[in-house]
Amino acid sequence: MLFERSERVGRGLAYAKDASSYLLNTSAQTMSVVPGRRSHFFEWLGERGLAPVRRGAALLRASSFFGDYVEDCFARTVDKAKRRGIVVSTTHDEVAALAPRPSGGYRVVTRGHAPVDADVVVLAVGNLPSNRFRALEGPGFIASPYPSDALRTRIPAHARVGILGTGLSAIDAALALVAGGHEGPVTMASRSGLLPTVRGPLHDHELAT
Ligand SMILES: Cc1cc2nc3c(=O)[nH]c(=O)nc-3n(C[C@H](O)[C@H](O)[C@H](O)COP(=O)(O)OP(=O)(O)OC[C@H]3O[C@@H](n4cnc5c(N)ncnc54)[C@H](O)[C@@H]3O)c2cc1C
Repeated sequence: MLFERSERVGRGLAYAKDASSYLLNTSAQTMSVVPGRRSHFFEWLGERGLAPVRRGAALLRASSFFGDYVEDCFARTVDKAKRRGIVVSTTHDEVAALAPRPSGGYRVVTRGHAPVDADVVVLAVGNLPSNRFRALEGPGFIASPYPSDALRTRIPAHARVGILGTGLSAIDAALALVAGGHEGPVTMASRSGLLPTVRGPLHDHELAT
C-alpha cells in the first residue's frame, strides 16, 4: 500500500512537471532505477526519440523526463507484480499520523480516507522542508526555487531579486525567472562566488592492478 499526497507517484519534488529549464544535475547516462543497468534511462529516452541534449561535455535532459521515466517504470512494475498475484495499491492522500497499535504495527491515518493498519511502515517522504528561516517568511522571501510557481507568481516582473547561493539551484532559479519573462536585475551571491564546476563526459574505466 503506497500513500502519496501528490497526484503523481514517483516524481517527488525533483522530477515534477516544472520549468523546462530545470535540468537533471546528473548526466542522463548514469541515472537508472534498474540495478545493474546504469544506462537504462538513457536507453528509455532513445527508444522514445528523446535523446539527451549535449551541454558542454555532459548529456542532460529536463528533470521532468526522469519523472516520466520513473512513472513508466513504476506502472510496469505494478503490472508485473499483479501478474504474480501481488496487489500494489496507491492512496492519493497525505498521511497525517502513524498510531502504534497494541498488537504491533501501525494505524496509518490519512486526511481524507479511512485509516489502514500496516504490520510494517516504511518512511520514504524525501527531504523535509527547512524550517530554519521561519522568521524571514513574508512577501519578499521564497524559501526554495522548487517548484518554480512561486518565482513566477510572487515576484513582480521588475523586482530586484537577490538569490542566495551560486550553485545548481541558484542557476535553476535564475533561468526560471528569465524563462518567465522577468525584467528586473537578478543578483546571485555566495561565500565562494563561484559557479558549479563543468561536468565532463563519462567514460568506462578498467581497473588497473
Ligand atoms: C530540486 C531537486 C532536484 C534534484 N535533482 C536530482 C538529479 O538531477 N539527479 C539526482 O540523482 N538526484 C536529484 N535530486 C535528489 C533526488 O531528490 C533524490 O535522488 C530522490 O528523488 C529522492 O527520492 P525520495 O523518494 O527519497 O524522495 P522524493 O522524491 O522527495 O519523494 C517523497 C514523496 O513522499 C511524498 N510525501 C511526503 N510526505 C508525505 C505524507 N505525509 N503523506 C503522503 N506522501 C508524502 C511526497 O509527495 C513525495 O512524492 C534532486 C533533489 C531535489 C530536491
